[in-house]
Amino acid sequence: MKVINDKNCSWINDLIPRKNIKIIKKNKECEWLIVGAGYTGLSAARKLSELHPNQKIIIVDAQLAGEGASGRNSGYLVDTTLNDGFTSNKELSNYKKKTDIYQLGINAVKKFIKEHQVDCDWNESGKYFASSNQKDKKILENFSNTLTKLNFDYNVLGKDELEKKLGTSFYNIGLYTKGGILLHPGKLVRAMIDILSDNIELLENSQLNEWVKNKDTIICNFNNHKITTKKIIFCTNGFLKSLGIKNNYNFPLTLTASMTRQLTDTEFKSIGEPKEWGVLPVRPMGATIRMTKDKRILIRNTAEVHNPFQMSKSDLNKRSLNQKLGIKKRFPALPNDIIESTWSGIVSRTRNSSQIFEKIDDNVFAAGCYNGSGIGVGTLFGEQIAIRASMENSQEINIIEKRKKPTFLPPQPFLYLGVKARLMFERFKAKNEI
Ligand SMILES: Cc1cc2nc3c(=O)[nH]c(=O)nc-3n(C[C@H](O)[C@H](O)[C@H](O)COP(=O)(O)OP(=O)(O)OC[C@H]3O[C@@H](n4cnc5c(N)ncnc54)[C@H](O)[C@@H]3O)c2cc1C
Repeated sequence: MKVINDKNCSWINDLIPRKNIKIIKKNKECEWLIVGAGYTGLSAARKLSELHPNQKIIIVDAQLAGEGASGRNSGYLVDTTLNDGFTSNKELSNYKKKTDIYQLGINAVKKFIKEHQVDCDWNESGKYFASSNQKDKKILENFSNTLTKLNFDYNVLGKDELEKKLGTSFYNIGLYTKGGILLHPGKLVRAMIDILSDNIELLENSQLNEWVKNKDTIICNFNNHKITTKKIIFCTNGFLKSLGIKNNYNFPLTLTASMTRQLTDTEFKSIGEPKEWGVLPVRPMGATIRMTKDKRILIRNTAEVHNPFQMSKSDLNKRSLNQKLGIKKRFPALPNDIIESTWSGIVSRTRNSSQIFEKIDDNVFAAGCYNGSGIGVGTLFGEQIAIRASMENSQEINIIEKRKKPTFLPPQPFLYLGVKARLMFERFKAKNEI
């Protein structure tokens, strides 16, 4: 199976195509090999080069760097998430640990963009959790109690206020949290590629097929060549499992999103000229929907068990149709055919929504599995796994280590059937919100 490039995603198509792509053309040796060049791998590479300016660092990606989930997500850099389960005090303390990690993630991205003067359409606009279903009020009430206890700033909103802010009368109840940032995911990851320093070699369209640990070295086999490295860090997120990393603790999910063309001035006026906003669903399988800074609408309303290596054009078209309906029911006055692109991307999930950050074996490390919230946490975990692999410590690592660890998953076929059934059930519960 091969991870493939595609030209489907508007965020990536917004960027100037990169030149001088290097692929693996001969056997190589290095001190450090990083596998996966998304937020996690690129952040690991950046930190390693700071810590070891004289050592040889190679980062490989099966496709073009930054064009996996990191370049094609919805662009919510979150401080809080809903649907994590937090009704008891114990859960509250676990939820706090999770939000502590989110905050460190936001800090890591903020520091990166400040240091490198990155323009990624950063907007500290906060975000909405909203639903059309009055029955979801109870969920929002529980959530607001949690937010109060943890001192987050938020407002509960009714239909009229939501309509004024969002330009749609679809939603009946909502909760706005002040924290959280909207950004252009493609611009952010592109900046991480552009600033890689000279002691880092980036090899793209170079898929690691298998790896073997042999005493003090790790031998990594690509199609026709191999890389022998002293230390390796796996940052392949949704593809950790396919490389045999923490096999029984994570599994991939495929998400699909669509983006419209820019609305015309008349169309934008017809929906009240709202400022940039982002809505997350109250139920996990509802739609994530966003109005971008440049007046485009993004919608993501699927999460499925699917072959993570590829989604066919006809499969994408089916999902695109569904997303067209999602936009239509929120913005009935807009024309029918305004979707410009539809793409899929892979995320990684654990059973208990916790992340992977660990030493797998001597000189073998892995970070990933952000359960769909990896912009900040991926950047943070990438930097911190580099510190950990260098046998150093940090305050951030102490906080990361306090989180609940991922729990064991049932074996196949029970895992596959269980996840499928759960997704169907959640989709049914959120059927009006898609
Ligand atoms: C549609 C969508 C919407 C999302 N929305 C949000 C959001 O709003 N906010 C948020 O925080 N997160 C969101 N996410 C999740 C977020 O994008 C990810 O958590 C994050 O990008 C993970 O970064 P990463 O670097 O760990 O993984 P990735 O960006 O997936 O990078 C992993 C890389 O590993 C490479 N790779 C895989 N296998 C191999 C191999 N064998 N050899 C070499 N390279 C390999 C891949 O090609 C890929 O480039 C979304 C994801 C999707 C798909």
